[in-house]
Amino acid sequence: TPDWQGKRVTVAGLGVSGIPAAKVLHGLGAVVTVVNDGDDERSRTQAAELEAQGITVRLGDGATLPEGTELVVTAPGWQPDKPLFLAAAAAGVEIWGDVELAWRLRGPDAAPWLAVTGTNGKTTTVRMLASILEAAGLRTAAVGNIGVSLLDAVAGDETYDVLAVELSSYQLHWAPSLRAHSAVVLNLAPDHIDWHGSMEAYAAAKGRVYEGNTVACVYNVADKATEDLVREADVEEGCRAIGFTLGTPGPSQLGVVEGLLVDRAFVDNRQQQAQELAEVTDVNPPAPHNIANALAAAALARAYGVPAAAVRDGLRAFRPDPHRIEKVADVDSVAWIDDSKATNTHAAEASLASYDPIVWIAGGLAKGATFDELVEKSAKRLRGVVLVGADRALIREALARHAPEVPVVDLDRTDTGAMSAAVREAAQLARPGDTVLLAPACASMDMFANYNKRGEAFADAVRALAAERA
Ligand code: ADP
Repeated sequence: TPDWQGKRVTVAGLGVSGIPAAKVLHGLGAVVTVVNDGDDERSRTQAAELEAQGITVRLGDGATLPEGTELVVTAPGWQPDKPLFLAAAAAGVEIWGDVELAWRLRGPDAAPWLAVTGTNGKTTTVRMLASILEAAGLRTAAVGNIGVSLLDAVAGDETYDVLAVELSSYQLHWAPSLRAHSAVVLNLAPDHIDWHGSMEAYAAAKGRVYEGNTVACVYNVADKATEDLVREADVEEGCRAIGFTLGTPGPSQLGVVEGLLVDRAFVDNRQQQAQELAEVTDVNPPAPHNIANALAAAALARAYGVPAAAVRDGLRAFRPDPHRIEKVADVDSVAWIDDSKATNTHAAEASLASYDPIVWIAGGLAKGATFDELVEKSAKRLRGVVLVGADRALIREALARHAPEVPVVDLDRTDTGAMSAAVREAAQLARPGDTVLLAPACASMDMFANYNKRGEAFADAVRALAAERA
């Protein structure tokens, strides 16, 4: 840990990570300058508050490295090729992200980190893991995107035994010295490629989570890329590679046998071949991708030494977050499911694989994705499709290529009212026993402020329909 007194630190970005970082560093005696691209109303208010505490803020100039900077602390979303970072690199100045800062600020007896990354399922898995650790009586928190912030978890007043930490590829990119107790890469599919520059760079950032692990590197048996990352990682002696699979587990794996989650990596008793952990139906919801999340969470908890019964209790106590495969209602024997959080094709593929037959509501901002593989894999289960949003033509064309017989209603709308129209069209297409699934495979910003608002618009429309039919 550096001596912060008088150290000149530049914080890049006034934001959810920048402002607390600036305050904490200032509190430690560092001389902090915040640089920010924007110079709007909001940033002026934030700047005034920081300046009142003695922190310098430069608005409208996020590109120039302040004279004498000894360290740059950046918001994770800032792209590595920004002029500020090039200037820092040229001057031999280190760049830390919010995770690196939190890692370096940990106290001597700090709680170890159980780290979760991957393209999809991070938040769910971290929260399942925290639920399991709690069931074991440990003081813990789900840290990251939702819940407690990393900086609060390490520099706040609360003491923890162990932390369940969600890490994005951006955060990992900027966290060179992080060393987790154990970590998992849940899956790897193309996402955020523009930011990282290539799929290889994206995968390498995710692989960082395994570097220096002390107890276990957990990988997805069905996703060979994750196993490759474990093989390439430089870990502490004795650290084990642990797989999870929806099939029968091999040695050093967790998997599923006859409706049970089973552990063959960390058995409680040496005579045992396998340890039963929980029933598949203890997982909420028991869809295949979510059982995979539960196995990954269980693997990390077991690596930390949690007993089997706590895995079961923790999974039973877990409730999924809103808009993640959330059942809104049953209307006339049709189930209506909100998976607004399926903002990319890999996520939508998981939820489409969980139901049959499906009336699928999709569309939004494609972010450069293609839909052929998704549509091809799901075609057999589709009763019909309702399309909304800016990039719906890409999905319509993929449907024409791979599912020409499936009826498609293209609403040709991007206004917020389109969601309630989509619900009405879907109700027309659905038959008793079907599932209507909002899994847009796209971002929401063409029509809504975020995926929460999109999911709420869907749920409101479904409840209105249910009220009419009642
Ligand atoms: P993240 O935090 O990585 O964005 P979430 O747990 O919030 O992940 O889940 C986001 C969406 O991804 C879910 O709504 C679901 O559609 C999908 N999903 C969740 N887990 C998985 C998984 N293991 N594999 C593929 N898709 C998944």
